[in-house]
Formats: sequence, structure tokens, C-alpha cells
Amino acid sequence: MNDLLSLNNRVAVVTGGSRGIGRSIALELAGRGAAVVVNYNKSSGAAEEVVKMIQSTGGKAAVFQADVSDFSAAQGLIKFAVETFGDLHILVNNAGITRDTLIMMMSEADWDAVLDANLKSTFNCSKAAVKHMIRKRYGRILNISSVSGQMGNPGQTNYSASKAGQIGFSKALAREIASRNVTVNVIAPGFIDTEILSTMTPEMLESVIKMVPLGRKGKPEEIAFAAAFLVSDQAAYITGQVLGVDGGMGMM
Ligand code: NAP
Repeated sequence: MNDLLSLNNRVAVVTGGSRGIGRSIALELAGRGAAVVVNYNKSSGAAEEVVKMIQSTGGKAAVFQADVSDFSAAQGLIKFAVETFGDLHILVNNAGITRDTLIMMMSEADWDAVLDANLKSTFNCSKAAVKHMIRKRYGRILNISSVSGQMGNPGQTNYSASKAGQIGFSKALAREIASRNVTVNVIAPGFIDTEILSTMTPEMLESVIKMVPLGRKGKPEEIAFAAAFLVSDQAAYITGQVLGVDGGMGMM
């Protein structure tokens, strides 16, 4: 049997697993054998649907509500995963929001909300997971950043800062815990067809797509497959890296 990219006997937490990219990642990891904790903040129905889909095909999954920007809620999420499935091997920090506006209009609340949901959440969940992973001498942390964190994007000073922050965080953490066999990597998606793009007008979207060498939006499943690789045993010698899954948009 070819068990390439198998995640049998692995336990994964996917933050923001209720919708969009996180949903696809949860389904992909479960399809490869992982038991998955599907975290959500507000979309309980959508999160439960993801869990049902996994269970209906014989997979293992559980749902857990937590606002991961809250430190103690994030600790609770990781504790739940370990208590429910007995271990934790994979953490995907995917939860994220946008509050786009030009800096002259950006409120302190817009800044704080985005930094907390995207960057502080990554710290909150990673800190709890690392404690477990370094004891077990095994772990895969994957942070979902953005091409906006690499290139910058007008109207997204808060979002771009949070996403660039995730990249710096990941490189520092990768160096801290490599000796314990825990890898930390980043996917930087380009424009992916999810609800997060719903605030863009068709004209904005059209102009953005002109910047994509492959000439189209990406699909959530295209991020999920790259995620499955980076959290697999086959990616054991990859850490501190940023993989652009962006149709070529962010290439240097
Ligand atoms: P989406 O469709 O809007 O989904 C966002 C997910 O994050 C939802 O499941 C949401 O859960 C969850 N979430 C938000 N805040 C949360 C919090 N405080 N605690 C727990 N969960 C929270 O967005 P998406 O496009 O899939 O984006 C997923 C990730 O990819 C984000 O980090 C985003 O920045 C990144 N990304 C997306 C694109 C793109 O073009 N789509 C491009 C680059 C990077 P609830 O609904 O339950 O609140």
C-alpha cells in the first residue's frame, strides 16, 4: 500500500475550520486519516456540517467553539483536542479576518481586531500546542498567512502586518523548536475563492486577477493539498519555510 501523505493516527486542530480554506484543510486532513478538531468562532452550523461530513465517511472529528484571539479560549481548544483524541500532532493556524480600509480611515478597533484574530491567535494556539509537542518530540505547525503579508496591499495595513507577523513568528519558532522534531511552516495563499473576498467589488477582483500569472483565483482545495503535504511525515526536513500558493502572484 502506498501511504504517501497518510495522516493515519495523527490528531489535528484546524482553527477556523468551519468555512473557506480551513474547511477544506479539515476535510483534506481527515480524508488522509487524521482525527480533526474543527474549531469555529461564530458559524456553529457550518462547523457541525464539516464534522458530519468527516464522520459520514468513517473519519474522526469533533467540533469546538473558541475565539482563538482570546488566550484562555485558545488554551481550552488545545486541551480539548488532547483530551478528546489523546494526543496532538498537527496545528493549523488558519482563522483570520479582514477589516480593510485606508489608514486615514482605519480605527484602532479595526487594527486591534485584525491583529488579534490573525496574529495573536497564532501565538495563543501555538504556545499551548508546543508545550505538548515538545514533550512528545513530534509536531507540525502550519500557519496560513497571505501574499499580502509578503507584498503589502493598499487598504490592508492591518491585515498585511498581521500576515507578515505570522511569517516572522513562524521562522523564530521554527528555530526554537527544531531540535524537538517540531516543524513550523507557512502557506501564503494568493486570492482564493472564499467568503473573505466578498467585500471586494467585481472591478477590484478583476484588477487583482490581472496580477496573477496563472490568471485566475485559487480554490480552497488547492491550499488544502499543500497543507496536507507540509503536515505530513514526508515534509520532515522542511521547517521555517513559506510556500506561496498564489498562482505565481508573489514570486520574487
Ligand atoms: P473565511 O472564508 O472568511 O473563513 C474564515 C474562518 O476563520 C472561519 O471559519 C471563521 O470562523 C474563522 N475565524 C475568524 N475569526 C476567528 C476567531 N477569532 N476564532 C476562531 N475562528 C475564527 O476566510 P478564508 O478565505 O477561508 O481565510 C482563511 C485564512 O486564509 C485566513 O487566515 C485568511 O487570512 C487566509 N487567506 C485567505 C485568502 C483568500 O483569498 N481567501 C488569501 C490569503 C490568505 P467563524 O465563521 O465561525 O467565525
